[in-house]
Amino acid sequence: MDFELTEDLRILQQTSREFALKELAPGAIERDAKCEFPIEIMKKLGPLGFMGMLVPEKYGGAGLGVLAYSVVMEEIARWDASVALNMAAQNSLCLGHLMVAANEEQKQKYVVPLARGEKLGAWGLTEPGSGSDAAAMRTAARLDGDEWVLNGSKMFITQGTVADTCVIMAATGKGNGKRPISAFAVETHRDGKPLQGYSTRKILNKLGMHASDTAEISMEDVRLPRECLLGTEGEGFADVLKVLTNGRIGIGALAIGIARGALEDSIKYAKEREQFGKPIAQFQAIQWLLADMATQVDAARLLVYQAAMMKDKGQTVTREAAEAKLYASETAMRAGVNAVQILGGYGYTSEFHVERYMRDAKLLEIGEGTSQIQRIVIAKHLMRQF
Ligand SMILES: Cc1cc2nc3c(=O)[nH]c(=O)nc-3n(C[C@H](O)[C@H](O)[C@H](O)COP(=O)(O)OP(=O)(O)OC[C@H]3O[C@@H](n4cnc5c(N)ncnc54)[C@H](O)[C@@H]3O)c2cc1C
Repeated sequence: MDFELTEDLRILQQTSREFALKELAPGAIERDAKCEFPIEIMKKLGPLGFMGMLVPEKYGGAGLGVLAYSVVMEEIARWDASVALNMAAQNSLCLGHLMVAANEEQKQKYVVPLARGEKLGAWGLTEPGSGSDAAAMRTAARLDGDEWVLNGSKMFITQGTVADTCVIMAATGKGNGKRPISAFAVETHRDGKPLQGYSTRKILNKLGMHASDTAEISMEDVRLPRECLLGTEGEGFADVLKVLTNGRIGIGALAIGIARGALEDSIKYAKEREQFGKPIAQFQAIQWLLADMATQVDAARLLVYQAAMMKDKGQTVTREAAEAKLYASETAMRAGVNAVQILGGYGYTSEFHVERYMRDAKLLEIGEGTSQIQRIVIAKHLMRQF
């Protein structure tokens, strides 16, 4: 496999790197401290094509592939993982589901403004009582005449309080056990007013990803026109699995951004900080930490690029995406912890970025399938393959 980026991708990498350095790096610590959703920054991503990267140009997107998306995700996450997480919710979750399941009319209606970055999107799968076992969801939708009626709640939904469009998964079949799942495009406002019965609550007490909006969503007799159903009734869970597989590549790229930040900041500090009469970078103990971080960042990037390139060729990437997400997210976590160690007491304060990298990285071992779930996915493939 040839991992060299094309000229076009190198230009995209440079553009996103410069954007991140200019627009994201300066206020990242303050945004984290204030737990504010960076709406002004999110608005700047649309014109760059970063809010609909995987959407064809005819639907308002940038018409790029998963490798291009991964390259940009790494650069954005290098300076602000929260912004990258918001981007992931928009690109690979909300728009990802719409591109998999929406019909032509729905694409014109929902995809175009989201892909242009004029609207914000969210994707609601997780519930208070069901995370890894997502199919056990309690949110239900029933047809009443020409309308769907939704009842239930969703938990930890990225961009949940700010989204104009939220793809909501709900059980539509009958029975007591796990029921067939369907997906719905929910416009959170109608005629400028909040959709009746639909309410959100921002979750503020998070460990990290403070500048990403995370929400609980409640639905009480939310009425939607019949044509809000996405894809085939009762077959939404197969689409969910496709969305998650593709999303994992993006989360892997996001993780590389954090890990690279941890490495770069550690090298800079280690060369400047002197103890026992010399820069701490000259101590072998510090060098070995840096060497391990660099090796793991490179290995993680190769896994992410492999999955992305295969996906762009139209190949099945269930195992490769899980491997990339698993390894990259655990690399980011280790890199964050080691960066704090290298910066010592200063690393433990928000004077430097590294404690934020460490806190943000933890989410990547949880969201879009925990590390345990990734290992289950990989092992299942191995059992089938051999
Ligand atoms: C900041 C943030 C943003 C998020 N954004 C979104 C979003 O936009 N949309 C959305 O739908 N969801 C979102 N999530 C939810 C996220 O995807 C879930 O938190 C995740 O899937 C895990 O579910 P859970 O939290 O219910 O944990 P649980 O499923 O309860 O897992 C708890 C522990 O048990 C382990 N476990 C569970 N099952 C098994 C098993 N079979 N074998 C071994 N171990 C197991 C898990 O690995 C974990 O360690 C977000 C979460 C956070 C924190």
